[in-house]
Amino acid sequence: MSKVLIIGAGGVGSVAVHKCAQVPEVFTEIHLASRTKSKCDAIAASVLERTGVTVPTYAVDADNVAETVALINKVKPDLLVNLALPYQDLPLMDACLETGVNYLDTANYEPPDEAKFEYKWQWAYRERFEQAGLMALLGSGFDPGVTNVFAAHAMKHHFDEIHVLDIIDCNAGDHGQAFATNFNPEINIREITQRGRYWERGEWVETDPLSWSMSYDFPEGIGPKKCYLMYHEELESLVMHIKGLKRARFWMTFGDQYLTHLRVLEGIGMTSIEPVDFGGQKIQPLQFLKAVLPEPGSLGPLTKGRTCIGNVMKGVKDGREKTLYVYNICSHEAAYEEVGSQAISYTTGVPAMIGAMMMLTGKWAGKGVFHMEQFDPDPFMAALNKHGLPWTEVEL
Ligand code: NDP
Repeated sequence: MSKVLIIGAGGVGSVAVHKCAQVPEVFTEIHLASRTKSKCDAIAASVLERTGVTVPTYAVDADNVAETVALINKVKPDLLVNLALPYQDLPLMDACLETGVNYLDTANYEPPDEAKFEYKWQWAYRERFEQAGLMALLGSGFDPGVTNVFAAHAMKHHFDEIHVLDIIDCNAGDHGQAFATNFNPEINIREITQRGRYWERGEWVETDPLSWSMSYDFPEGIGPKKCYLMYHEELESLVMHIKGLKRARFWMTFGDQYLTHLRVLEGIGMTSIEPVDFGGQKIQPLQFLKAVLPEPGSLGPLTKGRTCIGNVMKGVKDGREKTLYVYNICSHEAAYEEVGSQAISYTTGVPAMIGAMMMLTGKWAGKGVFHMEQFDPDPFMAALNKHGLPWTEVEL
């Protein structure tokens, strides 16, 4: 018997609610709250139609701790799953501390006025969660999330030490739009326009945004694609927890058309988060851009093709050097058919549900603030195979 309160009715929230409803033996009650209640109601209607499960819905401003506290006191959940935006991480962690509820999210806190992608603000909550006897699980999406678990799995079963880690995120799907982002445009563009950064022999090395690239030949017919080096938040915890790591990098594929649009938008200042004066009002150009771009949710029925996200890891086992590739391939069309969302939301919402399941069943437990690679990867890896994100591993 367990009750979960999910905050955020976007693409990821929708998938997570659908997936929780498929596992009634763990999620006996699912409650959904977000800023706009009508979006929660639309998700609840789809879940009822597809699974027969009723999901109570609420409006909440998750930036307002008192409002969330009142909602938690009304619902009395065992776990709060934060699938709103990174800006809400800290107020939601505060609300959990105040009400004595465990916490899970999929993206690290970001201050609204600077794109930073660092865990330091959430690590600062460690002692308070420990003292309250509560658990916070950070980054339970795909990347961060599954990629952290892939690294823990490789460490447990295949290596004595991993020396080189390359996380490679390929979206080989096509939505037919001139320019659109597959998840929240504001967060996505903030992430990819920042400077690149990777870990090399104990230090962070910076690169100009999207200035390094390589071609990677993806498996199962996806073929070669150009991948760009970016900073990604899971690197920060993985370099702390994976033994022997000398180099850690993150790569993402982008098509030429996407990058051309991005460069033009950047060149004319449309991706800036510095407020500008517009008709007597202060607006952030990036927020305005978000308002004119297609809603990621609307891409569901349009997106065809597959994603392939995985880790290439080089290291040693029993004195022998080896390279292991662990990956998942997810079909946009199959995800849409199952839960009404494309694969980017699906590959994030499924691990959010599995992370919640790990906590609610006690398979992953602790007091404090944790990353995915700190727990036993086996039950999580088994659940990926069972709940729609099967993985493959090959020695290269
Ligand atoms: P969306 O923009 O589609 O959804 C965000 C939802 O949060 C919306 O329903 C929005 O409400 C709601 N929200 C925003 N602000 C508030 C607030 N103050 N109070 C209550 N609700 C609020 O984003 P996605 O679903 O694409 O992404 C959700 C999260 O998942 C993000 O944090 C994103 O960074 C993360 N993510 C993680 C990935 C991973 O692999 N780890 C990959 C992809 C995403 P409204 O509809 O009213 O705007």
